[in-house]
Amino acid sequence: MRTNVELRFHLSPRSRNYKTGPIPVSTSPRTTCPKICPGRNKWCYAEKGPLSWHWGKVSKGIRGDTWKDFTGKIEALPVNQAWRFAQAGDLPGCGNRVDKRKLSQLVQSNQGKRGWTYTHKPPHMFGNGAAIREANKSGFTINLSANSLDHADKLSRYGSPVVVVVPADHPERSRTPEGRPVIVCPEQTGRVKSCAKCLLCQKPRKPIIAFRLH
Ligand code: SF4
Repeated sequence: MRTNVELRFHLSPRSRNYKTGPIPVSTSPRTTCPKICPGRNKWCYAEKGPLSWHWGKVSKGIRGDTWKDFTGKIEALPVNQAWRFAQAGDLPGCGNRVDKRKLSQLVQSNQGKRGWTYTHKPPHMFGNGAAIREANKSGFTINLSANSLDHADKLSRYGSPVVVVVPADHPERSRTPEGRPVIVCPEQTGRVKSCAKCLLCQKPRKPIIAFRLH
C-alpha cells in the first residue's frame, strides 16, 4: 500500500453517474470529510454501492494521483469544461480544516474551466469561510452545505452560495425563515436530465438549492 494515502485524489474523465451526466468528476479521500458532517453513517450517498467501493480505493491510496498530478489533470481540461470536484469526500485538508495552499492551487488549475463542489467543512473554523469565499470569487464554485433552512440562513452570511437538504415532500419553491429564495434541484423535479445540462450549482447565484432526501 502507498504511503501518504491522504494525498491521493482521483479524476474520472467522464462520470457514469446518471445525475451528474458525462462530465469529469473527482473523488477526495475520506480523511477530507469533516467530523461534523451530518451525512456520516446516515444518508451519505457516497457510502453506498459502487461509489463507496471506488471511494475506499482512493482513500487507501490504491487509486488516484498525487495532488500535483491531480491538479495537472485539472489544468489540462479543455477551456470552459464543466467538472465536479469531490463526488465523494470534501475540499483538501484533514477533517474540519480547509488546506488553504491546496485550495489556492486548485483554484489556479481551474482557471478557464467551470469547476464546482460542495463542502461540509465549517466556515466559522480555521478561516475556512474566507478561503472559500475567495475561491468563489476566482471562479471555482464552492457551495456551503446546510442541514436545515435555519442553517442555510446562517451559512448565507459567509458570502458563498448555499445548498440545503430538505424532506422528500418539500415544495419546489420556498423561502428560508429569513426570506431567502429556495429552489429544489431541477434534476429532482424532472426539469433537467443532469448536472451537465443544468450547472446551477456551478453558477454564482442568490437562490439556495435544496436537495430532497430520498
Ligand atoms: S441544481 Fe443542477 S447542477 Fe445542482 S445538483 Fe441539481 S442538477 Fe446538478
